[in-house]
Amino acid sequence: MRDLEEVVLTVDELEAIRLADLEGFYQEAAAEQMNVSRQTFGRIITQAHRKVAEFLIGGKALLIEGGNFTMENLRTFACDTCQHTWQIPFGTGRPKHCPKCESAAIHRMDGGRGGGQRHGRNAGRCKRTQRRARLSETAVIQKLPKDE
Ligand SMILES: [Zn+2]
Repeated sequence: MRDLEEVVLTVDELEAIRLADLEGFYQEAAAEQMNVSRQTFGRIITQAHRKVAEFLIGGKALLIEGGNFTMENLRTFACDTCQHTWQIPFGTGRPKHCPKCESAAIHRMDGGRGGGQRHGRNAGRCKRTQRRARLSETAVIQKLPKDE
């Protein structure tokens, strides 16, 4: 028997929380980032919030589905020609062309790019980055201080 009940968060749910709650995207923009419809994003984020609430209030352990797989280990690229975006893990080399249209006009998009909603990169960013790094290192998340 386990000591703690577990709440398992899928990587989709984790990404939804990151986009909506950490990066402050509106649902529509966040849905776009994840390549899902706004309705689908709404379902994912609702489910994610419910799980986080169970974790915070129910005293359960929170696990990220997929073990050591985290968004932190992915790089996002975008194609300037067809606007396709995709993610690849670190350590696989920089792609030379778009997987969809084969255009070489591609660029790296770092996670959390504001899409015009945010102005500049404020000082809070470092802290967020550290927290995300910590999430990716541990897979089992400890309760974090509430400061947002
Ligand atoms: Zn393309």
